[in-house]
Amino acid sequence: MECIFCKIINKEASADIVYEDDKVIAFKDIKPKAPIHLLIVPKKHINSVNEINSEDKDLVGEIFLVAKKIAQDFGIKEIGYNLLINVGQGGGQEIPHLHIHLMGDKDKN
Ligand code: 5GP
Ligand code: ZN
Repeated sequence: MECIFCKIINKEASADIVYEDDKVIAFKDIKPKAPIHLLIVPKKHINSVNEINSEDKDLVGEIFLVAKKIAQDFGIKEIGYNLLINVGQGGGQEIPHLHIHLMGDKDKN
């Protein structure tokens, strides 16, 4: 498996992990574009939003609940933050493993 996010999930590659449970992992983006820039990733390899099936409905819900939890843990839930999902080449998706970008700034008001 050449997928870098699967390697991070399988601990074959390192990452600054901020959250993990049996279905979801979240880690710091290696090239942050905001003071807080995290990637929330389902452990199941799904290429992109285009490959989500109805059997993944609960998992897709989980990644958003994790996003909210992490926003709270990082102290930006009330201030607000950005969630971004790039889809496919035209959408600027670089890593073909579904993920949500969570970007925020504690000092924003
Ligand atoms: P995409 O463009 O696919 O939506 O976003 C991929 C993100 O993953 C980029 O923001 C990029 O900086 C980040 N990224 C790429 N490779 C690695 C890596 O090996 N480790 C971590 N932590 N982030 C990565
Ligand atoms: Zn993968």
